[in-house]
Amino acid sequence: MRMYDLIRKKRDGGTLRPAEIRWFIEGVTDGSIPDYQISALLMAIYYQGMNLEETKELTFAIRDSGERLDFSAVQGIRADKHSTGGVGDKTSLVVVPVVASLGVKVAKISGRGLGHTGGTIDKLESIPGFRTDIPEEKFLEIVNEIGLSIIGQTREVAPADKKLYALRDVTATIDSLPLIVSSIMGKKLAADDDVIVLDVKTGSGAFMKTRRESRRLAETMVEIGKAAGKRVTALITDMDRPLGSAVGNAVEVIESIETLKGCGPKDLTDLCMALSAEILYLSGKGESVEACEQMARDAIRDGSALALFGEMIRAQGGNPDVIGDYSLFGTAPCSADVLAEQDGYIAGMDTEGIGHASLVLGAGRNPLDDVIDNTAGILLMKKTGERVRQGDVIAKLLTSDPAKIPQAEDILIRAIVFMDKAPRKKPLILDRIS
Ligand code: URA
Repeated sequence: MRMYDLIRKKRDGGTLRPAEIRWFIEGVTDGSIPDYQISALLMAIYYQGMNLEETKELTFAIRDSGERLDFSAVQGIRADKHSTGGVGDKTSLVVVPVVASLGVKVAKISGRGLGHTGGTIDKLESIPGFRTDIPEEKFLEIVNEIGLSIIGQTREVAPADKKLYALRDVTATIDSLPLIVSSIMGKKLAADDDVIVLDVKTGSGAFMKTRRESRRLAETMVEIGKAAGKRVTALITDMDRPLGSAVGNAVEVIESIETLKGCGPKDLTDLCMALSAEILYLSGKGESVEACEQMARDAIRDGSALALFGEMIRAQGGNPDVIGDYSLFGTAPCSADVLAEQDGYIAGMDTEGIGHASLVLGAGRNPLDDVIDNTAGILLMKKTGERVRQGDVIAKLLTSDPAKIPQAEDILIRAIVFMDKAPRKKPLILDRIS
């Protein structure tokens, strides 16, 4: 086979054969195909798309490009949830202890922040002492003992995705449906779970900006997950506003703890309960999704989910006292209030802009090898739909470096849209694909 022929075929709208896709991914993994030819094929896929069969083959080839994880040592139903990436999205930190407290095992491999979106691993590492790089054997031992553990990506899982993602990032080919599906599901399917619940984000803070695109993304991921023998459901959820009020690392863990204590923001709580209910239902823990949601709410009310989160922190070397004493996270040395420049309502937010402002403050990596500032981030004091008066504090910016504040403030102000009238309310959960 010649890479030239594959590129030309896809460029001209042709369909790649399974053997051609497998050959391509093998060449990506062993380094025999040069970056410029990989990039050319990625761009051809970006423009011409892929049919379901091609997308499925690409996903399975990415899954098979490295080691498959073996969770068979874990007793019971194993479940995972995955979000396609958003701003302020800390649902894993709540959902995982909730479902684990109800008997579903979660051996979760999570990622770091990507672009303007945050990552669970970066957030967890803001807990003093918390280790996300524990060996797999110990990881599975913890899951068997207490029901849950969250660690970072091991190097050997889906190495083809690592290479492809890095090239997509610099060739403007991230937001392609078959490439997103194969990247996410290739990694998810390399893990050994029975149940997968997907949170597909849509809107200004998501990789997929329109509801139609997000629905197609969700349908394709569910279809491919089922073809791989998994029980899968996807919720399509609004990312036209950040989730909750905190964007960053330590601030998001604190907001998650508040949610586990039953005092979290309503949007975050509702979404966490809905995702937990879907996992519990697919795991056979209740007769209906509604009954499962009630079980999830009870796990918050009776404190069992919070207690389990503390146990996970302890098992992974962290200091569980953070649950009762947020000062243990440390405090950002510099903060600045962003004030409303006019009276009115917050009509909307360019959520990607908010994520970008948080990244500028130090909560993300830019360039890629930057060190994360754990205490950096944004606390939104006003959210979409709320009335504001000139001079009201709409957000607090937190950082260790005061020089970063003016740029972040400028980005944040430009990201917020004001209006004279209250905007129409939009539901947080827009669709369900099962
Ligand atoms: N997350 C991934 O892992 N891959 C994508 O392509 C997009 C989001």
